[in-house]
Amino acid sequence: MENIKNYINGTFSSPVNNNWMDNYNPSNGEVYGKIPESSKEDVDLAYKAAKSAFKQWSQTTLEERSRILIKISELLEANLQRFAEAESKDNGKPVSLAKAVDIPRAASNFRFFGNAITQFASESHESIGQQAVNYTLRQPIGVVACISPWNLPLYLFTWKIAPAIAAGNCVVAKPSEVTPMTAYLLGEICNEAGLPKGVLNIIHGLGGTTGQAIIEHQDIKAISFTGGTATGAHIARVAAPMFKKLSLELGGKNPNIIFADCDYQEMLNTTVRSSFANQGQICLCGSRIFVEEKIYQQFKTDFVTKVKALKVGHPAKQATNIGALVSKPHLEKVKEYIEIAKTENGTILCGGNEVKVEGYENGYYLEPTVIEVPNDECRVNQEEIFGPVVTIMPFKTEDEVLLMANKVKYGLSATLWTNNLKRTMRMSNQLQAGIVWVNTWMMRDLRTPFGGIKASGVGREGGFEALRFFTEAKNVCIKY
Ligand code: NAD
Repeated sequence: MENIKNYINGTFSSPVNNNWMDNYNPSNGEVYGKIPESSKEDVDLAYKAAKSAFKQWSQTTLEERSRILIKISELLEANLQRFAEAESKDNGKPVSLAKAVDIPRAASNFRFFGNAITQFASESHESIGQQAVNYTLRQPIGVVACISPWNLPLYLFTWKIAPAIAAGNCVVAKPSEVTPMTAYLLGEICNEAGLPKGVLNIIHGLGGTTGQAIIEHQDIKAISFTGGTATGAHIARVAAPMFKKLSLELGGKNPNIIFADCDYQEMLNTTVRSSFANQGQICLCGSRIFVEEKIYQQFKTDFVTKVKALKVGHPAKQATNIGALVSKPHLEKVKEYIEIAKTENGTILCGGNEVKVEGYENGYYLEPTVIEVPNDECRVNQEEIFGPVVTIMPFKTEDEVLLMANKVKYGLSATLWTNNLKRTMRMSNQLQAGIVWVNTWMMRDLRTPFGGIKASGVGREGGFEALRFFTEAKNVCIKY
C-alpha cells in the first residue's frame, strides 16, 4: 500500500482524527493506498505552521527565494520518471503524457516564478508641482490557500504554489482528494531543496470538510482555487463576508471553430489532440467543434477516421493514446451525457462505449466519442462533460458561428482555425473567452495572463498577474 500523509511544518503527519480514505488506481479500479481525511484541527495546525514561518520567509531576500524555487524545479526534473509514474497511477493519464507535459510543466512553474520574482517591478509616480513622490509596495498577503483539481494534478497545484511562495507568502494547500500522490511527493522535494519549514503545508482530504475548513478560516486571507464552477461559486459565497482575495479558475465549454481556409492537416491533427488529450479532461479542451459547411463532410470523415485510430489502453503502455478516466463516478457522469445526447437526437459518429482493457477489466476506460449534434442548444453542447466526448456541427457564416460560440455560460478559451487575417482580428476581438488560440491549441507562455470570463472564473493567473494576485499593493506618498 502507498499511504499518504499530511505535510505540515516540514514533517509528514497523520491526520489528528486518524481518519483515512481509500485511494484508487483508475487503470484497474483497485485501492492502492490511504489518504488522510483531514479535519479542521489539521487545517489549524497547517495555518499555525504557515503563520509562524511567514515573518522570516517574507523577509528572505528575493535571490534566496528564487534559488530555492529553482532548486525545487531541478529536483522535480531529476525525479521526472518517478513523478510521471505516480501521476499516471493516481490519475489514469498515460505515463508518456505525464512525462512529456505534466511534470515538466510543474518544474517550469517553479523555475519561471523563481525568475519572475526577481523581475517583479512596481510603479512610482512623481507628483509634479506638489513636491511629492508616490511609489507602490507589493507586499505578501500572509497565509494563503491554494486548492486544486484532479485533472492536471501537480501541474495546477504548483501553478499556484510557486507564485504564492515566490511572492513571500506561506501556504496552506490542498490537492484534489482524487489525485493526492504527487502533491505528497512534492513535500519531500521541498525539504530536500531547503524550503524553510512551514512555508508550504499540504493537507489532504475531502472538499466538503478539509477544503471547507480552509476556505472558512478567518486568517487565511486569499484563496487561489481551480476546479468546478459550482465549487467556485460556493467558495465565493463563503469568502465574501470575510473579504478574502479570490482567484477562481473554473469550468469551460470551449469552441473550436474551423474555417475552410485553414491549414487542413495541421488543424486536423491538433483538433484530435485538443479534443482528447488527457482523456478530454482538460478545462481548455475544444469540446464544441464548429466546422464551415464547405468542408464539413470532409472533416467529419477524416476526423472520425483519426479518432477511431486512437488507442485506448493501460496508461503505462507506450502505445496508449487514451488512458483511464479519473474515477468511477466520473466515468458514469460522462456515460450519462452520451445517453443524454441520444435523447436529444445527437448522432454518435464514433465511440460511446466503455472499453474493457485486457488484464485491467475494472479500469475506467471509455472510447473517444464524437457526437454530431442537431443544434447548438442541446445539453451536450452547453454543459461541461469533461471527458473524451466532443460535439460537431456545421456553420455557414462568421456571424452565425460567433453567436453559437458565445452562447454558453462559460468563457475560458476558444480556438480559431483560419488563414484570413481580418477574420482572425474580428473574431478574436469578439469571442467571449479569456484565451483565444489561432491556428494552434494550448500553446503556453508562462508570462501571459491565464483565466476565464463568465462562469469560467474571476481573476488571472500566469506571469506578473499571479504575483499581483499574491501581493497587496500599498501606495506610499512622500512629500519632500
Ligand atoms: P471540484 O470543484 O470538485 O474540486 C476542486 C478542488 O476543490 C478539490 O481539491 C476539492 O476537494 C476542492 N473542494 C471541493 N469542495 C470544496 C469546498 N466546499 N471548499 C473548499 N474546497 C473544495 O473540481 P474537480 O472535479 O476536481 O475538477 C474538475 C473541474 O475543474 C472542471 O470543471 C474543470 O473545468 C475545472 N478546471 C478548471 C481549470 C481552469 O484553469 N479554469 C483547470 C482545470 C480544471
